[in-house]
Amino acid sequence: MGLHTGELSRIRVEPSCIDGRIVFHGEGKDIPALVENVISTKRCTTLGKDGVKIHTVEHLLSLCYAMGIDNLNIYFESNELPILDGSCKDLAIAFQSAGIKVLDALKKVIAIDREISIVDGDSIITGMPSANFSIGCMIDYNHPVVGVQTLFYRDDNDDFLQNFAPARTFGFWEEIEKLREIDLARGGSLDNALVIKKDGYMMPPRFPDEIVRHKILDMLGDMSLSGAQIQGHIFAIKPSHKLNVQFVKEMVSIQSSPK
Ligand SMILES: [Zn+2]
Repeated sequence: MGLHTGELSRIRVEPSCIDGRIVFHGEGKDIPALVENVISTKRCTTLGKDGVKIHTVEHLLSLCYAMGIDNLNIYFESNELPILDGSCKDLAIAFQSAGIKVLDALKKVIAIDREISIVDGDSIITGMPSANFSIGCMIDYNHPVVGVQTLFYRDDNDDFLQNFAPARTFGFWEEIEKLREIDLARGGSLDNALVIKKDGYMMPPRFPDEIVRHKILDMLGDMSLSGAQIQGHIFAIKPSHKLNVQFVKEMVSIQSSPK
């Protein structure tokens, strides 16, 4: 099921030749998973090219980024990737059972060589130089159940698979009707999202801080749109897809500009 379109969704994933790219294919068009092809960040990240679009690419791309997978063709039949259980746990199982091949080619790397900050209201993402890749994230929804949650991810495949891949998409009960009014979350249900009411979760969370874990999962997916492995530390306060994508655009443009 597509979370926002409510349509049944099926994808086929195949290895591609060695060019270091992930490309979505549908309706006869090719859409490389690059920030220049982002056409919307409303509630999910949507890529598009020549009139064809594909919604909610961030979970699959997050898994690819964390597992270091970068040569992939993804064929889609409807315009949204399947939400599955709201996390990328099942995708991770599928990828692991298919097997991952190490290719004889160098990975493309973007090194953050100066501080970059992108601000939007009370949200901020800052990138700074570091020998390794890491992400820190703080969220504060001013909500009695969620509270303030802060967590770090340090570029570790096993840590991702155990502690981030199972973290589900979430939604606030009060917002869900509003989303449906603007034609989003049409496929949302208790089977594919952690729903939060004022007095508690509507089903048991998988982690006490599942929401910040999912936020980091989303961030990794959006960061992968740089088309490279990132070397640097990124810290976000109340990030969104919009801010993530702005950050990636800035990071990519600085990379190609003189120091
Ligand atoms: Zn998500």
